[in-house]
Amino acid sequence: MKYDYGIIGGGPAGYTAGMLLARKGASVVIFEKDKLGGTCLNKGCIPTKSLLHSSEIYKEVFCSSNIGLDVSVNSFDFSKVIEKKEQTVVKIRKSLELAVKNSGAAVVYSEARIKDKNTIIAGDNEYIVSEIIYAAGSKPREIKGLEFDHEFVLSSDDVLNIRKLPKTVLIIGSGAIGIEWARIFSNFGTEVFVSEIAEHLLPIADIDVSKRIERIFKERKIKYFLNDSIEKIDKKTVTLKSGNTINPDFILSAAGRVPLKPDLECTVLGDSCGEIQLAHYAIHQAKKYALGIDYDKTLIPSVIYGEPEIAWVGLREGDCGDGCKKILLPVTALGKSWCDDSTEGFIKLILNDNMIKGAHIVSKEASALIHEIIIAMQNRLTADDLKKVCFAHPTYSEGIFEALIRA
Ligand SMILES: Cc1cc2nc3c(=O)[nH]c(=O)nc-3n(C[C@H](O)[C@H](O)[C@H](O)COP(=O)(O)OP(=O)(O)OC[C@H]3O[C@@H](n4cnc5c(N)ncnc54)[C@H](O)[C@@H]3O)c2cc1C
Repeated sequence: MKYDYGIIGGGPAGYTAGMLLARKGASVVIFEKDKLGGTCLNKGCIPTKSLLHSSEIYKEVFCSSNIGLDVSVNSFDFSKVIEKKEQTVVKIRKSLELAVKNSGAAVVYSEARIKDKNTIIAGDNEYIVSEIIYAAGSKPREIKGLEFDHEFVLSSDDVLNIRKLPKTVLIIGSGAIGIEWARIFSNFGTEVFVSEIAEHLLPIADIDVSKRIERIFKERKIKYFLNDSIEKIDKKTVTLKSGNTINPDFILSAAGRVPLKPDLECTVLGDSCGEIQLAHYAIHQAKKYALGIDYDKTLIPSVIYGEPEIAWVGLREGDCGDGCKKILLPVTALGKSWCDDSTEGFIKLILNDNMIKGAHIVSKEASALIHEIIIAMQNRLTADDLKKVCFAHPTYSEGIFEALIRA
């Protein structure tokens, strides 16, 4: 069997490259050992956002007294939440499978390995290809001494399959995965503890974002321990280095992901590169490879979902020299936030010489807002150019103008 391209991995990087190359007329075969859609669709972005959405509805039902709604809940079946999440994933996966088929790319459901620079082996077959693309993704990182046993120490894959809500959970790590799961469990009423080895929650974020998340967690009674890690586990009692003891139903270990690497030098896309481990980055890398559409690596947005959303791009305050100016607009300045009962957060802009160098947003709709700023940054619009935009009222977008006129 001969193809122009053999792609190992059917996640966002692999299926995007595969479909785009096939649509251009190349013969393409994608090897997938599990399910098309990869981590993002089956174990990552999509299932977690479905669960997050369900948890937010659950929480809202119990917080609707301020609009005069007196709700009594007769029963709650968590297995329906899981079922809805699974249905969402299956629905999207079916569309994806059809789109890949329609593009003309072939899919072989089998583990694949590279034999040499033009040969891939899958099952008993050898595939001769002109180019190999390795897009095998990444796997959850195991902490030494806290290996996954899939019962008490869970990975981000395992936790998607729980059938019962825990009463108490300990989350190790406060990156995007840890923060989103803390929100999911807390919304459902689980007692949540987070242990973070760094000085602040969400350590990769701008310092004001980290501090705000800490404040929000405190308000929501999500307990967190900073500069901390597990000292010992005795049966199900966990003792942290700080001396605090917790008796969680289970531990979710969310300490990052390890890239899978090819045995032979070839084109590598997505998480396997070990760079920015985000689905949209994987997709954009594939678009560049297949269509030559360029991107600016310094303008890749980060988004963390939940209420309020967190999004950022570009330089953090700590990355800037003296010439930078920081503007911070609390979302309480925006009428829309009061209408939505969502007044927690801010829009923070880092400016240098009338240009936006970074944006850090904690706000409802932050995931949409950040793109307005990226478009401005990518097109080198000045702060004065942006001020000329007529932002609709009442919106969160008008916060960009409100922030800029404070510069
Ligand atoms: C809980 C969680 C939440 C996330 N949320 C977000 C989010 O909200 N937004 C975001 O942008 N990113 C998110 N991510 C990250 C995102 O899922 C990844 O960045 C993205 O999936 C990377 O795409 P990829 O194609 O490189 O790899 P993957 O999606 O991991 O796909 C790789 C595929 O290769 C297959 N494979 C591996 N080895 C072989 C082999 N030898 N033969 C055949 N097939 C093989 C795997 O089965 C897999 O399907 C999240 C991740 C997790 C774990």
